[in-house]
Amino acid sequence: MKFIPGIIPPTSYPQAYWFAYCQDKLLIVKEAGRVSPPLVATLAEYGISTHSVYYLGTLDGYPAFAALLADDTAIPTDLELLGLRQLFSLVADEWFYLAGRARQIIEWDKTHQFCGRCGSTTTVKTGERAKLCPNCGLLSYPVISPAIIVAITRGNEILLARGTLFAVPMYSVLAGFVEPGETLEECVAREVKEEVGLEIKDIRYFGSQPWPFPHSLMVGFTAEYAGGDLKLDPAEIIDAQWYKADNLPLIPDKISIARRLIDWFSAKTPIG
Ligand SMILES: [Zn+2]
Repeated sequence: MKFIPGIIPPTSYPQAYWFAYCQDKLLIVKEAGRVSPPLVATLAEYGISTHSVYYLGTLDGYPAFAALLADDTAIPTDLELLGLRQLFSLVADEWFYLAGRARQIIEWDKTHQFCGRCGSTTTVKTGERAKLCPNCGLLSYPVISPAIIVAITRGNEILLARGTLFAVPMYSVLAGFVEPGETLEECVAREVKEEVGLEIKDIRYFGSQPWPFPHSLMVGFTAEYAGGDLKLDPAEIIDAQWYKADNLPLIPDKISIARRLIDWFSAKTPIG
């Protein structure tokens, strides 16, 4: 799949991919076990009307749009609504990321109907992914909240923690949101100190991942243990332990950068 981002839609097209959300779920076509976004000129072909429509770019040469549907939209029997998390295991990464991109834009549209400064109704700015207040001129861009995520290693061990918000007894690397005025590296050191009380060194960039729940950008790092004893913040962490690669607990799914960090550790670390 090849996606080329864009802002201004073509004037005409016989078919387009529609990434349409209804009550935070994505509209999909399921045919012979294969899941895809509807490929039609307009969703009116399914008797569905759209509220807010944003051009995303082209996917394999077809225009792609994000759209918002009314909560009470009647879904035809040949279509389904699916949660974005459920999409993980069913589709290619590019497809998932584009669905996430559409969701972030739709979420931004829903939460920026009015100017945050003067309360006037906003308009969509032409040629730019922004909303404009016609009264005071304030521009509002899609919200992206950077968060760091870090794998801390100590020799042949990795620190994994169970967060208070985890629904299942899963262990993962540490993560936290970046604060205003903070560099990413400062955020990594602060989050680790706050959550588990450790000092770290050799903080290195690993990779990043958009995480559309609802609008995070996960920025991954690796770091080495430098000192201190585990002292957990009970508001955030239930348990944290050092693990060897051949004795890992339940860890996150393949799609997440958390899992990529843990897999990186396992691949580089000799067993035993
Ligand atoms: Zn305003």
